[in-house]
Amino acid sequence: MYDITRIQGWPMPVLNELNRPHFDAMAEGKVLVQHCPDCATWLAPGAFLCENCGSTGVQWRQASGRGEIYSYVVMHRTFDPAFEAMVPYNVCLIELEEGPRLLANVVGVANADLTIGSPVQATFESVGEGLPLLKFKPA
Ligand SMILES: [Zn+2]
Repeated sequence: MYDITRIQGWPMPVLNELNRPHFDAMAEGKVLVQHCPDCATWLAPGAFLCENCGSTGVQWRQASGRGEIYSYVVMHRTFDPAFEAMVPYNVCLIELEEGPRLLANVVGVANADLTIGSPVQATFESVGEGLPLLKFKPA
């Protein structure tokens, strides 16, 4: 769970030592997730220990950026004014080929054409000056 702040009106996570590498990597066009060197389990960003073996030696590694749509919803209304112009928009659970699952928007495809299992590739879109966000597009 992240604490939320606002940057240029957009809700953004408060960066800390557990999530900063993931968000800093977006500015470089990279997907960084965590990896346990003790049991080779890949972990979603923000883990302070391995969910498989309990190791506290988790490390950041660059993921391929490739994955598939594991699940999704299409938002037809929003409770946050920052997203009003985007309605309807999708929120997809992307399963990276390394295994971790990340929430992100899929762009470049109509919401009606979203399909579970479709291959996607990371892309980065700026939502304001200096605010690149990880999104995915059809691969
Ligand atoms: Zn482990």
